[in-house]
Amino acid sequence: MQKPKGTYDVFGERGKKELYIRGLMETLMNKYNYEYVDTPIFEASELFHRGVGETTDIVTKETYDFVDRGERNMTLRPEGTAGVVRSFVENKMYARESMPVKVWYFGPMFRYERPQSGRYRQFKQFGVEVFGSEDALVDAEVISIPVNLYKILGLKGIKVNINSLGDKESRENYREALIKHFEPVIDTLCEDCKERFKKNPLRILDCKIDADKEIMKTAPTTIDYLNDESRTHFENVKKYLEALGIDYVVNPRVVRGLDYYTHTVFEVEADIPSFGAQNVLCGGGRYNGLVEQVGGPSTNGVGFALGFERLINALEAENIELPYEKEIDAYVIPMSDNEKAYGFDVLQTLRMSGFNADIDYMSRKIGGNFKQADRLNSKFVIIIGEEETKSNILTIKNNRTKEEYKVSKELVIDFFDDNLEKEEH
Ligand code: AMP
Repeated sequence: MQKPKGTYDVFGERGKKELYIRGLMETLMNKYNYEYVDTPIFEASELFHRGVGETTDIVTKETYDFVDRGERNMTLRPEGTAGVVRSFVENKMYARESMPVKVWYFGPMFRYERPQSGRYRQFKQFGVEVFGSEDALVDAEVISIPVNLYKILGLKGIKVNINSLGDKESRENYREALIKHFEPVIDTLCEDCKERFKKNPLRILDCKIDADKEIMKTAPTTIDYLNDESRTHFENVKKYLEALGIDYVVNPRVVRGLDYYTHTVFEVEADIPSFGAQNVLCGGGRYNGLVEQVGGPSTNGVGFALGFERLINALEAENIELPYEKEIDAYVIPMSDNEKAYGFDVLQTLRMSGFNADIDYMSRKIGGNFKQADRLNSKFVIIIGEEETKSNILTIKNNRTKEEYKVSKELVIDFFDDNLEKEEH
């Protein structure tokens, strides 16, 4: 049996890496004072049609849809925002007095795409959503989160692209300009684009088939159609990014593949040669109409979603070593079956006092056990023979210096407290 196409298994070093980065995300989100949310990985298909947009590639070509045993149309979530918005509305978070509502999520998403490097059918996203504030501070804060996460991890080659689609009025003016631009040449574009032209001309700009045509390059840009209010909002976002020392580029080609964006849109790119099509590490923006579309009261929203696999690929491409634990503190060796219970108790005492420890489960000979201690990168080895159980004095060996100590069982935690501190300095 083989795993499904476009999926991957996590084990070994990869597991350590994933847990380490997830831990960092959690710590960072606590610092930013965001609340953790977790919504189902499947939802009514209707939610994504309304939430992501009927005309997007994600909904028309990439969803995993199924009919459940109760004849309901269900979809494995292709992205996180729609589910979080549904939860925000259903749980009446909009009625809280402590606005804005700032939340984060992490979990698997599913898209039926052609698998290639950095593109999977099941992949993980870390994302945030902030509801209830129109302030450009929020847009800038949301952009700062992935930027700071990449910085903490030591990723250097990143580029922040921002753009603004403006409010409803600006978007409408822009839509008309796009129609004027593409109308005379619509016959030269691909079949999908003809369809997009009728339903949502903005989506023509995402086309992968027509991307290199001159007519795409000369298309009008959203920035030229911003009304005064939208322009001021965008100026403020830029001002606040500058206040945080975040370098950005205004890139009018960033329009994002989802229908719900208004005002700010952004993408963070890896500036890594050889990274090719997987170079977009993270994307997001403001979506002032989405909550209403999903059935809630008109509420502002801003968010981003960051690709977890692409982040890990970028760290690997830049040869960044993550400082996760690669050693254990102690390895317990009972010399025979008679000492196992005693050793097991010592092991538990260590583990419950905050040390990483393991024991011989294979009844190895002493030589084999020392090899195992090396394989586990154990700093210390605790040898428990008949003598030790009788006297309650343990034999502890520093596995690097080979120094040997005799330590009373009652003082074993003190010993590890003192000696590991010395080891670490
Ligand atoms: P999107 O929701 O399409 O804006 O995607 C946000 C981020 O998720 C992208 O910038 C990628 O880093 C990541 N991503 C999107 N689709 C995939 C995929 N099929 N496989 C892996 N990562 C993805």
